[in-house]
Amino acid sequence: MRAGVIEASRLASLGKPDSERAFFVADLSSVYLQHQRWTRCFPDIKPYYAVKCNPDPYVLRLLASLGTGFDCASNGEINQVLRIGGVDPSRIIFANPCKAVSFVRSAAKSGVDMMTFDNADELHKISRTHPRAKLIIRILTDDSKSLCRLGIKFGAPLNTVAGLLARAKELKLDVIGVSFHVGSGCYDSTVFTDAIMRSRHVFDIAQDLGFSFTLLDVGGGFEDATFENTARILNGAIDHYFPDRQQLNIIAEPGRFYVSRAFSLAASVIARRAPMPSTEPDVPTGDQEAGSPNVMYYINEGVYGAFNCIMFDHQVVHPQVLSLNESFHIPSTEVYQGSSVWGPTCDSIDCVCPITKLPASLQVGDWLSFQNMGAYTICAASQFNGFESSNVVYTSGEAGQVSNETRCALASFAAKLTNSSV
Ligand SMILES: *Cc1c(COP(=O)(O)O)cnc(C)c1O
Repeated sequence: MRAGVIEASRLASLGKPDSERAFFVADLSSVYLQHQRWTRCFPDIKPYYAVKCNPDPYVLRLLASLGTGFDCASNGEINQVLRIGGVDPSRIIFANPCKAVSFVRSAAKSGVDMMTFDNADELHKISRTHPRAKLIIRILTDDSKSLCRLGIKFGAPLNTVAGLLARAKELKLDVIGVSFHVGSGCYDSTVFTDAIMRSRHVFDIAQDLGFSFTLLDVGGGFEDATFENTARILNGAIDHYFPDRQQLNIIAEPGRFYVSRAFSLAASVIARRAPMPSTEPDVPTGDQEAGSPNVMYYINEGVYGAFNCIMFDHQVVHPQVLSLNESFHIPSTEVYQGSSVWGPTCDSIDCVCPITKLPASLQVGDWLSFQNMGAYTICAASQFNGFESSNVVYTSGEAGQVSNETRCALASFAAKLTNSSV
């Protein structure tokens, strides 16, 4: 990240336009480590990475090389994953319960058979366009303990499950299991227990109707901070409700967990509005006690860009000072004051941080950084007001074993692709 800032100031000194542009740093070794953490905590649950969370080409490549599956929600995502090469369509689940007919047809053509449904219309569409599909019924579970509730839009309530499965039987469709999503940004791991209990109930209903389910899909909602605790609770629930599971494949659709930490953002201060005490003695200069901001900073990323996560993903972001007065050294004597941070567009909704403490000497040309910017950020950024999306710079982390293993995984995957295409 510091190298990026140094390069930006070199380009600025050469007069290159847009040299102060914001940029992401993606540490691919972080994705690698999260995968190791996943396999350690969930040795029996195969992750299908939720592509929508961050469809970065290098992230997808690395995960393909590590052998994960992929949760795709559209034709575009399916094609993107298949274009990587070396990913068999059986490693893709089309986990959108409401799909366009043409998308179902394309999935059938591409050999993507696993797909979710939660309503009868979807069954009719699929029976017409992909009768050999392996279907998974997405059920409604308690999503009240999450930042992004998905149950408002998706999930079959338990009292509709028997009817839906009976309809599937009439249409001679193959339903192979159950999926759910506890909600994205889930902050109470115990909701997984309830979801597994409901899944068990659906397995029993299905058996009565003559289906023999073989798949349990525990969805997404895994959080970095609470991951080990979630694993303990979820594994416990699976042991309790599915004690006899020789015939059972268990998969999940983690998104945020894999990428949130891996991406950081560097943005530069492009403008500043500070009170001018000498000329405006009567204007109050912000009430420090009440925490109202004294200075407004404008940076070159905002809620129409990467910080759309503030609007769509209900995130609260915290800037860190990356450089101050063209130095990476932040003196310990620096005085901090209440400040607000704004995006670059002309819309007043474009506020990144309504109140935070920043050094009093922070000025135009200094840089701020933001951690944990990998999930639901870049992928939903717009170019409103003519501000281009920020570029991504890739690293494999600090030199060492993990960095080497990450590079090796990517290199051997690339080599395999080259060999198989000869
Ligand atoms: C968004 C989504 C995910 C990923 O959720 P995370 O909270 O990022 O883990 C998984 N499955 C489905 C169906 C989704 O819509």
